[in-house]
Amino acid sequence: MFGSMGVSRLLRAVLIPAAMSVAAAFSAADSPALVRHGRTAPAMHEAQRPHGSAPQPPQLPPPPGASTRNPLRLAVLRLGVTEPAWTSPLNREARAGVFACAGCGAVVFSSDAKFDSGSGWPSFWRSAAEGTIAYRREWDGRIECHCAACGGHLGHVFADGPRVAPDDPPAPKSDLAPSNGRRPRFCVNGLALTFAQRAEEAN
Ligand SMILES: [Zn+2]
Repeated sequence: MFGSMGVSRLLRAVLIPAAMSVAAAFSAADSPALVRHGRTAPAMHEAQRPHGSAPQPPQLPPPPGASTRNPLRLAVLRLGVTEPAWTSPLNREARAGVFACAGCGAVVFSSDAKFDSGSGWPSFWRSAAEGTIAYRREWDGRIECHCAACGGHLGHVFADGPRVAPDDPPAPKSDLAPSNGRRPRFCVNGLALTFAQRAEEAN
């Protein structure tokens, strides 16, 4: 239907100029924004990095004890969130073994001092060793306890643990002293702990 003109000539004569004019119209419409971006964005980058170097992402040190990728654990260890009561399997853990900080692996409690407090959280009446746990009084008066090695939040300590018995093994001096005849009660988030069964018990 195009006769002697042919499709290729038609393209050159009509369609290509038309396309170019449309492109020119878009270019003219966009040019102020393009120029504005083109001038400001590189200037900001140049100001932020040393001359001639490629842009680098900010280098932030990992938080101490960030060995876990479990977001729930991180919420407990790093933000001080309290897990819901009765949710940790460690609350029912009755085997002999040691409980380590889930953030750094430092042993913080032993099954020897675990007892059923009825609170819904793993509970201990003494720490594993001298200086393994550090304390901080919170705004509401409660005493927060955390791993002395990495700072990971463990839980809280209350003065209503089991009654002192004459044959109690000595507790670390860094533990809270008994009060009114009761040992301290470490009320600990199970998410802040990992449990390792003692080898002789596991066989
Ligand atoms: Zn730790």
